Amino acid sequence: MSFKEAAKQRGLYLARVVRSQRLSPGFVRVTVAGQDLERLPRHGYDQWFRLCLPIGAGTVDWSALPDQFGLSGYLKFKSSGLAKRVAVRNYTVRQHRPEAGELDIDFVAHGDRGLAGPWAQRAQPGDQLALIDQGRGFSPTAPDDFHLLVGDESAQPAILGILRDLPRSARGLALIELPQAADAQPAEAPEGFEVRWIVRSPGSGQPGQAALAELREVALERPEAVTAYLAGEQALASGGRRHLVAAGLPKSKIEFVGYWRAGSASA
Ligand SMILES: Cc1cc2nc3c(=O)[nH]c(=O)nc-3n(C[C@H](O)[C@H](O)[C@H](O)COP(=O)(O)OP(=O)(O)OC[C@H]3O[C@@H](n4cnc5c(N)ncnc54)[C@H](O)[C@@H]3O)c2cc1C
Repeated sequence: MSFKEAAKQRGLYLARVVRSQRLSPGFVRVTVAGQDLERLPRHGYDQWFRLCLPIGAGTVDWSALPDQFGLSGYLKFKSSGLAKRVAVRNYTVRQHRPEAGELDIDFVAHGDRGLAGPWAQRAQPGDQLALIDQGRGFSPTAPDDFHLLVGDESAQPAILGILRDLPRSARGLALIELPQAADAQPAEAPEGFEVRWIVRSPGSGQPGQAALAELREVALERPEAVTAYLAGEQALASGGRRHLVAAGLPKSKIEFVGYWRAGSASA
C-alpha cells in the first residue's frame, strides 16, 4: 500500500465526538466513537482517512457521502449539495480501539485559520462526523533497510504510528520538527531507532524548514539501502525528496507527501 493506492480504498464510517483533550500547547486529541468504527480495518502505521466535518447550519445526510474519495468520488461529492455542508480534510489514525469502537485523532492546533484545526479546538461530545478510509501511505516492504522518517508536527501522529508498528528489529532515524518541546509525545520506537526532536526556534523559517536542514546534515553511507518517508509542509516533503535523490536514494524508496501548504487552505 502507498499514497498512490489511496484512491482505490473504500469505506464510509459515521462517528460522534466522545471527548476532546488539550494534549500540549500545539495539539488537541479528539476521540470519536461509533459502531461503525468496530469494523474499520486496521491498516496500522500511518493509516489515514478523509475527515468529513459539518460546516454551517442545517442537517447533513451523512450516509449520502461517497464511500470512496478517488477522482470519481471526489467529483460526485463536489457536484452534490453536500459540498456546501461538509468540509473534507485528511487526518491520521493516532490510535484505534475497535473493541470499543473508538479512535483518537491528534490535531495540530494551528490557530483560527481553516476548518479542521479550529473545529478540533471547540469539538464537543455528540458532534457528528464521518470518515472515509484511505489505507496507509507507508509501505513496510524493506525491513532490513535503514529507515529515515522525517516530518513536521502534522506528521507526528503518522511517524509515531510507523515507529509503533515497525518490526522490533527495524533500524533508522526519525526527525520530527515541533513548535515546542512540550509537544513531543512518547515514541514506541524499535531499539535500533534514534528519534530526534527538532524544536523550531523563532526565525528558523516556516514549519518544516528546520527538519529539512537537519536532514541535509545526515550522512548516508549506503543510500541504496535506505528507505525514506517524508511528510508535512509541502516544501519539506518536496525539498527532502530532492535532497535524497541527489544523495543517491532510488526514487522508488522515497515515499513523500505534502500534508499542507503554508499560506494556502485545503481545496
Ligand atoms: C495523509 C495526511 C495525514 C494527515 N494527518 C494529520 C494529523 O494527524 N494531524 C494534523 O494536525 N494534520 C494532519 N494532516 C494535515 C492536515 O490535513 C492539514 O494541516 C489541513 O490543512 C488542516 O486543515 P484545516 O482546515 O485546519 O486548514 P486549511 O483550511 O487547510 O488551511 C487554513 C490555513 O491554515 C494553515 N495550516 C494548515 N495546516 C497547518 C498546520 N499543520 N500548521 C500550521 N498552519 C497550517 C494553511 O497554510 C492555511 O493558511 C494530514 C495530511 C495528510 C495529507
